[in-house]
Amino acid sequence: MVSRVIPVQPFDLVVFGGTGDLARRKILPALFRRFCAGQMDGGARVIGAARGEMDGAAYRAFTRDAISEFGGDPVEMEAHLSAFLEQLDYVALDANGDDGWDDLVGRLDDGDRIRAFYFSVGPSLFGPLATRLYDHGLASPRCRIVVEKPFGRDRSSAQKLNAVLAQHFDETQIYRIDHYLGKETVQNLMAIRFANTLFEPLWNSQYVDHIQITVAESGGVGTRGGYYDKSGAMRDMVQNHIMQLLCLTAMEPPAKYDPDSVRDEKLKVIRALDPVEPEGVVRGQYEGTDTLPGYRNEVENRDTTTESFVALKARISNWRWAGTPFYLRTGKRLRARASEIAVVFKDAPHSIFGSDSGRHRNILTIRLQPNEGIEMGVTIKEPGPGGMRLVDVPLDMTFSEALGPQSEYVPDAYERLIMDVIRGDQTLFMRGDEVEAAWAWVDPIIERWDVAGTQPALYSTGSSGPDDALALIHRDGRRWREIRP
Ligand code: NAD
Repeated sequence: MVSRVIPVQPFDLVVFGGTGDLARRKILPALFRRFCAGQMDGGARVIGAARGEMDGAAYRAFTRDAISEFGGDPVEMEAHLSAFLEQLDYVALDANGDDGWDDLVGRLDDGDRIRAFYFSVGPSLFGPLATRLYDHGLASPRCRIVVEKPFGRDRSSAQKLNAVLAQHFDETQIYRIDHYLGKETVQNLMAIRFANTLFEPLWNSQYVDHIQITVAESGGVGTRGGYYDKSGAMRDMVQNHIMQLLCLTAMEPPAKYDPDSVRDEKLKVIRALDPVEPEGVVRGQYEGTDTLPGYRNEVENRDTTTESFVALKARISNWRWAGTPFYLRTGKRLRARASEIAVVFKDAPHSIFGSDSGRHRNILTIRLQPNEGIEMGVTIKEPGPGGMRLVDVPLDMTFSEALGPQSEYVPDAYERLIMDVIRGDQTLFMRGDEVEAAWAWVDPIIERWDVAGTQPALYSTGSSGPDDALALIHRDGRRWREIRP
């Protein structure tokens, strides 16, 4: 199969926060890989813009180190790195002041190229950057801004941020990034659902018993403790990433695969979510081991009530999903780093093989990490003599065999999303009303915790979370899928 890489038009991309951790680990390596793939032609320019003083040569050296550490295939580096670095430049500027802005304007003075500004800085700078872009004449109708997470910390702050951005930019220019939407398998979820006749007729409460969405991490908060303790799992994972996965799993088929058709359907899902009852949510904090600190020690706040784990039962009150619960869970220091969406179908209405054949059900699993892929569990006859014994096996849906070696390379989400910004495709980015609606669902849960002031349940490092989380699903006669690498 021939790879179809369509080059994008020449563009200028300014990465505010171009010396930060995200730029180093994700944005710059992603741009390099797109360059190697032939998607960025020689006309593209990438300008790092951040507070530290450095010249273009130093920024190119910084980028070379970043690429060799995070994603530089030695053969590609040998072949393409010098040419890629030639397209890089750097401007020292202050998002909170006027220093450096004239310099940036001077470098962007030419023509009608596509221009994108990536806000890879702390959220307190999103508003000031938008305002400064406007003040310096850079907020032209043809430019785009890319806004990183977190987008607010509740509905009210998200509304305020939306209002600030809307003063200078039209909604069609604002790309709120959720990198989960750029994952290949997440897009495949839409292809599986809406390009096949097989699944969609079964994708409802008549056939689906329940759905589980798990985003499990094995690591703790590490060096991000200061940031994380002000946020917690609900704000850091549930309101954005898990909500997006829920929406794509539950939404009605959009009329078209275009930004507003897709985002309208996602918004309807969020608005159909029932409020979560107190008994429908569990939060936890990990304990330490002999060698690893517990959450409270790691964030250096012994009294913190911030959660490193959340499990909850969500209900969507619409025709398709009434009666089918969605169990969501995420946490740190769990048994393994594993994220998946599991669609658990109902038992066959009657077993012609008798009660001895056991209980079998089909499960469609969309794995997001570590190995992106899709697996369909089907029940077959166990081979060999000895009667009709049934066994569950995964139906092989390894795309690499069907699609050839090219499909073995799974592009990082940032590669896809940055190119979508340049192409002007907002389908995989969150719209302002979607973000606000997601906060509106999450806010009451957090407010209840704040009012109660109780401590989250403790759970052991390497476990599946607190016992209460097991009870949450056991009460309904179901169980969590095993968290495995
Ligand atoms: P960082 O602290 O590593 O880098 C911050 C960058 O902003 C630096 O380049 C710094 O020079 C620049 N900066 C700070 N103050 C400035 C000012 N006044 N004017 C101009 N530049 C200034 O942060 P990060 O980890 O790269 O995160 C950037 C954004 O991306 C944040 O919003 C974060 O929440 C988000 N994010 C980060 C990650 C990650 O893995 N690091 C993941 C998802 C989202």
